[in-house]
Amino acid sequence: MGAAPRIEDVSFALGEDFPEIRDSVRRICAQFPGAYWRELEAREAYPTEFVRALTEAGYLAALIPEEYGGAGLPLRAAAAILEEIHASGCNAGACHAQMYIMGTLLRHGNARQKTQYLPQIASGALRLQAFGVTEPTTGTDTTKLKTRAVRQGDHYLIYGQKVWTSRALHSDLMLLLARTTPVDQVKKKTDGLSVFLLDIRDCRGKGLEIKPLPAMVNHNATEVFFDGARVPAENLIGEEGRGFKYILDGMNAERILVSCEALGDARWFTQKAVAYATERVVFDRPIGQNQGVQFPIARAYAETQAADLMLRKAAALFQAGLPCGDEANLGKLLASEAAWHAAEACMQTHGGFGYAREYDVERKWRETRLFQIAPISTNLVLSYIGEHILGMPRSY
Ligand SMILES: Cc1cc2nc3c(=O)[nH]c(=O)nc-3n(C[C@H](O)[C@H](O)[C@H](O)COP(=O)(O)OP(=O)(O)OC[C@H]3O[C@@H](n4cnc5c(N)ncnc54)[C@H](O)[C@@H]3O)c2cc1C
Repeated sequence: MGAAPRIEDVSFALGEDFPEIRDSVRRICAQFPGAYWRELEAREAYPTEFVRALTEAGYLAALIPEEYGGAGLPLRAAAAILEEIHASGCNAGACHAQMYIMGTLLRHGNARQKTQYLPQIASGALRLQAFGVTEPTTGTDTTKLKTRAVRQGDHYLIYGQKVWTSRALHSDLMLLLARTTPVDQVKKKTDGLSVFLLDIRDCRGKGLEIKPLPAMVNHNATEVFFDGARVPAENLIGEEGRGFKYILDGMNAERILVSCEALGDARWFTQKAVAYATERVVFDRPIGQNQGVQFPIARAYAETQAADLMLRKAAALFQAGLPCGDEANLGKLLASEAAWHAAEACMQTHGGFGYAREYDVERKWRETRLFQIAPISTNLVLSYIGEHILGMPRSY
């Protein structure tokens, strides 16, 4: 066994940037211009062709180890893929979950589960895109969730409701968090929750109903209702009752990856804003010659670069197997805010045309607002920083 990694051994230099992967992702994305996304949104449809193109190129299996048919790339490569998708004006929200949900199966699933599912997920034969955690009445207070899994012979029966379960109508499998021991019967409220790999195809119409949830962005959100859906006991991931820990384990990767999408958005907005500010002439001068137009764009750019550095550090620590919760949370805060400030600058720079659908600014502006709410809202990130990094009292 080699020596344990030490923080001073991790290089925080710009690190690998995966230029070939970035080029290739950009080439794929060029086939899916703004008109494609606008047309989908008008129909609230799923970007099937876009997801297929990414799957065929192997990018959604970037993090699946080679022995299971994936590319076995580091987290930083997956982050670069997602960043480029968003910097190209596309949206990875349709398919990003596959990258980080899969990690729970990889880290905590047993050998049979991994052999059965991972190669099919890597090839695209099985879509693992749905992640059922959030519930309507308990919100961010996850340990209070009410969905129950009751053991009956060699199955669990699921009762309860999830909300905001993205892509459930476009996924074959759902990673589901449910309570297996009532909260008043456990020592710690984080105990007694379990993770299941639920086969949506087997359960729909048999105790599982999925309804679209129309929303501000085309994120294929749904409400999911369970009334006795049967999940084979062999689809329990890891040990019963330890599911909360397994979900927490995946959160740093999720935060880093989603933050890189925000970074990509920030880059798209900045590039659009700069181009428009340079070419739009009002009062006989390019509008970008006015500091009132130029400075917000410059400020957002500086924030974007700072977020990028923090996320590179987070990814380097993650890859070295070192704790990275602080950096993942800081990166999430910085990237989501940089994207929003870039969006605001881009919208304002475009004036009235920022509202015209054909410019895509209003669509991306709506889309990038989400990063301050999901997968975790800014206040909860600030609570983490206050409590875990700065040592102030827990606020909730
Ligand atoms: C488009 C979309 C897609 C989503 N996809 C998924 C998905 O696929 N799977 C899934 O499980 N979930 C999904 N979500 C849910 C998302 O993760 C949650 O909406 C998010 O975590 C916030 O939880 P909440 O909506 O329950 O807000 P709440 O927990 O009700 O909080 C509401 C507000 O109060 C603030 N707040 C709450 N408590 C505190 C406190 N103690 N201190 C300070 N502020 C506080 C929060 O920051 C937030 O701003 C999605 C949401 C959206 C909008």
